[in-house]
Amino acid sequence: MKSINTVTSSITAENLGTTLMHEHLMIGWAGWELDCAAPKFERKAALKACIERLKELKDLGLGTFVDPCPMDIGRDVTFMAEVASATGVNIICATGLYKEDLGSTPYFRQRSVDEIAEVYVQELTKGIGNTGIKAGIIKCATGKGQVTKYEENCLRAAGRAHLRTGAPITTHTEDGTMGCEQLEIFASEGVDLAHVVIGHSCGSADLGYHTAMLDRGCILGFDRFGLDFVHPDKLRLAALIGLLGVGYEKQLVLSHDTVACWLGRGLDLPPETAKLIENWKPTHVLKNIVPALKKAGVPDDKVRAMLVENPRRYFS
Ligand SMILES: [Zn+2]
Repeated sequence: MKSINTVTSSITAENLGTTLMHEHLMIGWAGWELDCAAPKFERKAALKACIERLKELKDLGLGTFVDPCPMDIGRDVTFMAEVASATGVNIICATGLYKEDLGSTPYFRQRSVDEIAEVYVQELTKGIGNTGIKAGIIKCATGKGQVTKYEENCLRAAGRAHLRTGAPITTHTEDGTMGCEQLEIFASEGVDLAHVVIGHSCGSADLGYHTAMLDRGCILGFDRFGLDFVHPDKLRLAALIGLLGVGYEKQLVLSHDTVACWLGRGLDLPPETAKLIENWKPTHVLKNIVPALKKAGVPDDKVRAMLVENPRRYFS
């Protein structure tokens, strides 16, 4: 059995349990540390809030929390390890770079695909900085409606690091676009698409977009539940129930893409938008979405597939 790196140990896929595949403890947009006018980051208070958040999830039955924060937007794996140790929830962190418009692009734009892949491989096999903590997953991202040359390089690097380490890949897509293009790039690098989650696929209501990707063997992330101002839960659920109804339950995973704390300034939402994220909490799937699926007639084994068995197969 292949071992999976968590921020505190290495486990087997059997130990994952119920898994949220895309949540964040902390995010800071590249450059946040230069904003001396922003509210000061209170690490102790943030730690306390994150521990409370994960304890609540643990009480609901959560085993594993995947935090695919890329390396360039505030990733803090020591912080993650402290939260994991205090709660007993497995936390899996990522290596990888964010999309061109919001990441550490200027430096890595000057690196080759193989130079970037080497960074990912070292973080997966040797550890992140001098923490000794190893990444367990590879993250990549594209923006809306296009894959830039830089993003393509990062996707190819992710594919090569996957082939060298076996670590699975998870992606960010914007507004339900570019998932098919991402898969094309991974396939051209020889990646087994069963180990790829195309993230935020629930941001599209186009079932043709979903099935075109699913029929290539990948997993789709329905991983932004509660982010109603981006795309309403009603549409996420309608697509999910439809895909489950025609037999894609082995290729879907659930999450929210929540952010527990922000470094520097976070999302600055106008009040009318802020009202639309009342459910954007990491307990929403277990408390509200699972019951909604059951009410719609989705059987328990399909719910279990999305929360337990699909993450297990993806990491194996
Ligand atoms: Zn995310």
